[in-house]
Amino acid sequence: METKIADEILQHNEEFLKKAPKDLLKKADELARKGQKPAYVLITCSDSRVDPEAIKKEFIGEEFEIRTAGHVLDKAGIESVQYAVEHLGVKHIVIMGHTKCGAVTEALNTDADLFILNKIREHIGNEKNLTEAIAKHSLETAWDLAKLPFIRKNNVNIHVFLYDIKTMKVQHLLSLNASPVEIMSKS
Ligand SMILES: [Zn+2]
Repeated sequence: METKIADEILQHNEEFLKKAPKDLLKKADELARKGQKPAYVLITCSDSRVDPEAIKKEFIGEEFEIRTAGHVLDKAGIESVQYAVEHLGVKHIVIMGHTKCGAVTEALNTDADLFILNKIREHIGNEKNLTEAIAKHSLETAWDLAKLPFIRKNNVNIHVFLYDIKTMKVQHLLSLNASPVEIMSKS
């Protein structure tokens, strides 16, 4: 059996632990003992070029991450958000779409009948421009969440960003508060 990757992973972990700042290991130990209190839920694409490190302050404990291809939320994704809101007390959701998203590209250019692609098509409607479609899909994901009773009841704020995979720079598209749904800012 080919175990090269497994060996590399172990080696990377060893190297990481050797170099890891003491503060970080202390924080890991503290979070393990006291439990997590993430600042926000991050919903983003599984794409390997999207790195949440680009927007984070802390290495661990800051964001509760949900990553799927095209950041499409299925039942498990929504229930994960619900867990973060109801059990961890999270008040903010960040939806981060990204440039050149392969899932949105597939949704635009093929008629493959997949849950992920159908959900993206539902969101983008007749939009044919990839960048516009990515933004639209991200915003519609926010509106879908804003309609959910547990989001409204808990007064959750939803923020939509676009991540540029070429520059790693993010752009703020919208923030809204779900109870009642109102637009707070748009840039
Ligand atoms: Zn993507």
